[in-house]
Amino acid sequence: MLFSKGDYLQAVEQKVASEMISKVLYPSDSVERGRELRLIQEYFLVACALEDIFKTYLSTHDDFDAFPSKVAIQLNDTHPTLAVAELMRRLMDDHDLSWTQAWEITQATLAYTNHTLLPEALEKWSLPLFEHVLPRHLSLIYDINHRFLQTVTTTWPGDLERMRRLSIIEEGEPKHVRMAHLAIVGSHSVNGVSRLHSELVKTSLVPDFYALWPERFNNKTNGITQRRWLLQANPALAGLITETLGEAWITHLEALRELESQAQDAAFQQAFMEVKQTNKARLAQRIEQTTGVRASPDSLFDIQVKRIHEYKRQSLNLLHIIHTYLRLIEDRTPPPVPRTFIFAGKAAPEYWAAKQLIHMIHSVAEVINNDVRAADWMKVVFIPDYRVSLAEIIIPAADLSEQISTAGKEASGTGNMKFALNGALTIGTYDGANIEICEEVGEDNIFIFGLRAETIETMRRQGTYHPQAYCKREPELARVMAALRSARFCPKTPDLFSWFYNALMEHGDYYFHLADLASYIPAQLHAAEVYTQPALWAQKAILNVARGGKFSSDRTVREYACDIWKIQPVLKGRQ
Ligand SMILES: *Cc1c(COP(=O)(O)O)cnc(C)c1O
Repeated sequence: MLFSKGDYLQAVEQKVASEMISKVLYPSDSVERGRELRLIQEYFLVACALEDIFKTYLSTHDDFDAFPSKVAIQLNDTHPTLAVAELMRRLMDDHDLSWTQAWEITQATLAYTNHTLLPEALEKWSLPLFEHVLPRHLSLIYDINHRFLQTVTTTWPGDLERMRRLSIIEEGEPKHVRMAHLAIVGSHSVNGVSRLHSELVKTSLVPDFYALWPERFNNKTNGITQRRWLLQANPALAGLITETLGEAWITHLEALRELESQAQDAAFQQAFMEVKQTNKARLAQRIEQTTGVRASPDSLFDIQVKRIHEYKRQSLNLLHIIHTYLRLIEDRTPPPVPRTFIFAGKAAPEYWAAKQLIHMIHSVAEVINNDVRAADWMKVVFIPDYRVSLAEIIIPAADLSEQISTAGKEASGTGNMKFALNGALTIGTYDGANIEICEEVGEDNIFIFGLRAETIETMRRQGTYHPQAYCKREPELARVMAALRSARFCPKTPDLFSWFYNALMEHGDYYFHLADLASYIPAQLHAAEVYTQPALWAQKAILNVARGGKFSSDRTVREYACDIWKIQPVLKGRQ
């Protein structure tokens, strides 16, 4: 149309603007980046999904009575929460349903999965921006909030403070729309993604909503697919398992439990560890190609691969690396076994601290990898461009899986499950799904360390955490801190570690590095000692595979289908 009027420039501008909507994938991870384009993208995806759903539904129905029994919409985090308002808009404005009819259908159709407790990751849109992009949706949200606050008043008459806490609209200059609140109000189910996380959603994230609607809250512990993370990524181990047990595990992961009887069998242990050795040799090759570092497949492969984030504590891993190096050089005490410390992971482009962490890992790696005194004992590598295809090569080669988030911060983790299923032992905090992995594999077959979520919460609330006190008590921690303060691990960029040293020693160490380093060091030493006993290590690694059945996404999907969507599986061979 614009072309025919000859307004070429305007046509190009409109084309560029519309293509922007689907061009840039927002890379932020656990840090919310509120930008107009992002809101437009979220609306675009929600509107298209609902258009598709309506088209399909209305091809076989002429009213909406059966809509909630034929359609289930799972809000995967708050990103598609505009669906609450969009579904209301379509039912009322396009199909003339009353508010009551539309609201009943909306609530019965939608369910919400929460993925994070981090306050900085909770989606909020400023009212002026929201009104500019989606004025009709904002007016519907005001109506939803008005009716919701009436129920709150009925339950807690005169409790204005509670109204303020529960409202979908956050007071302030400017006001904001709280997308998690909209998702909870508009859904019939709210779930977290591990047992601990689902408890924290109820007791710490939204306790007022839990008090109002306890029956709405439930847990669905995450899972991973064994077809990708074992059958495809680790064909040698998949082959060994199938040779031993048959193929049942491919569709029924619980069948792996039969491997328990092989855990102490010397021949099976040998075959199992040969597979691991082959996978390690393949990864060592890839590491040399991409980084030039020569890693010995005979060393312990200690691996932390995941998005770079302060709460995931690649920094704690780095403190242990520095400790190991200082112990070797200053105390002339080598570790029980040579280790290759392997990192990979991406940082969101605007996340300054995450980018600094990558720089710090490279800087420590350069010092250690170029010190001949450390050559037989340690190597540190950062593999660039972490992604699923690279994870499929890295994870099958792991001896030790680093899952060391500050307790209470990692909603579930799924990397932890991929590693265990590939026969790595976990060193980890009592956080997210690590707790359930520990429960399944048994505490003798995992290295758990660190403060519990409840303890950390209490210490935060009471202000009783004093990182310097840990340094005074433990000379080994003081030595690591002194090294951070010097330019020893960053001769080319002397101030590289200052911000991190200050965060730990001057600004309260929000992520509890010093408290947990005190138990992380002995846990790492214990892991290394077990690794020097090959039969014992093999037994524990085999038990991690054998007892990983719970963590299949088949189980997770079945639970969503049964408890939330109320749908039955279509049985093969039956009509
Ligand atoms: C599994 C996976 C993740 C998630 O890892 P966590 O350790 O659970 O944070 C991230 N990135 C890639 C490429 C993955 O395969």
